[in-house]
Amino acid sequence: MRGICYTFRMRYSKLFGKTIKEAPSDEVAVNAKLLLRGGFIDKLMAGSYTLLHLGRKVEQKIERIIREEMNSTGAQEILMPLLHSKEIWNETGRWDSAREVMYQFKKNDKEYALSFTHEEIVMDLIRKHVSSYKDFPVKIYHFSTKFRDEKRAKSGILRGREFLMKDLYSAHVSKEDMMKYYSQIIEAYKKAFKRMGLDAILTEAGGGVFTKNTTHEFQVIADSGEDEIIYCPGGDFSANAEISPVKEGKQCDLGHGPLKKAKTIEVGNIFPLGTYYSEKMNAMFTDQDGKKKPIWLASYGIGLTRAVGAIVEIHHDDKGIIWPKEVAPYDCHLIEIQNSKFKSFGDGVYEQLKKARVEVLLDDRDDVSVGAKFADADLIGIPVRLVVSAKTGDKIEWKERSKKATELLTIDEIIKKLL
Ligand code: ATP
Ligand code: MG
Repeated sequence: MRGICYTFRMRYSKLFGKTIKEAPSDEVAVNAKLLLRGGFIDKLMAGSYTLLHLGRKVEQKIERIIREEMNSTGAQEILMPLLHSKEIWNETGRWDSAREVMYQFKKNDKEYALSFTHEEIVMDLIRKHVSSYKDFPVKIYHFSTKFRDEKRAKSGILRGREFLMKDLYSAHVSKEDMMKYYSQIIEAYKKAFKRMGLDAILTEAGGGVFTKNTTHEFQVIADSGEDEIIYCPGGDFSANAEISPVKEGKQCDLGHGPLKKAKTIEVGNIFPLGTYYSEKMNAMFTDQDGKKKPIWLASYGIGLTRAVGAIVEIHHDDKGIIWPKEVAPYDCHLIEIQNSKFKSFGDGVYEQLKKARVEVLLDDRDDVSVGAKFADADLIGIPVRLVVSAKTGDKIEWKERSKKATELLTIDEIIKKLL
């Protein structure tokens, strides 16, 4: 099978990155506390985290969703460098105007920056590789690390100084063509966020160091969010409070009642940039009429690391995380209750799940109590817990993380439900 090669099974005793009792006291954000305690991440320093095996698996699931949705719009995956010269940033003036967020440094008398975005790099690629109207549209994206000198890095993995992003760039011969694809991406983003378990609200916003045009953010309502939106509960209007033309409480024009205000997490942002970058960088194409014209550019970002954190902020309870099915690190969490007879039955269940290509995390530890295993399963938050014990006989106990009820099922019934 092609594509990402996942680890389909894992014995908890062998897993690198176990649960811990207490999150470090300097960590205030819920996402960081739960992810640290659950063994998903490790903190190197403020704004800088390792994704341990479980965290990486969640991120890979998110990556897969995004890749599928981007490919379905005809976009092509590439991979661009993260080390950039000062010269390329000087072409648009962003070496100076974006100095605040960019990590810049000198080495052997040459100046460099670490990537915080890729518009300039993409424009350079496009001006070298395409020249005729026949070559358009261009739709290219990559998954890579971004570096940003964030002043406040207090929100756990929602705001890192380095983090993973998918950034897509599209180039077109006209504004109409650009806006047509822009609308297609809005739909693709809606689908992608829904699959991740995020209810993202399409929101009008400003363009920061990217553009003076209005852009669109995908905002998820969460008390811990650093953004604020004014939105209609009927779903026909939402604007970032920073640029909203109206205030909370104003009646919706379409009769959906008063507009509301909410704290939100920005999980995506898309930018109809226009010809600003191509004009600065002399990226032109020859149109049908033989004339040279500037290329229309749009860019589209989703923060993968932030998405992992946002999912945790929204899907948790006092016991731990509750992963939505499609982004869970494993499909099920199998617990053997120690007893030689049931251990061999449990190992048999593990083998059968493995054969059926169900992703399974097996808690095979024989030096912890049943209570501790259950508490760890709740903390880690895999959507389905399976238990094999003297009480379950030749069946297996099935319990969903989001529900209280348990039921006894055969292995065949379980495989059917999980696949
Ligand atoms: P913010 O306003 O939260 O600082 P931004 O508007 O500067 O973010 P964009 O340039 O729009 O960010 O980046 C695209 C996406 O990358 C964001 O929607 C978000 O999901 C993610 N992202 C941005 N900054 C960070 C960060 N410091 N840590 C993690 N993810 C980030
Ligand atoms: Mg943004």
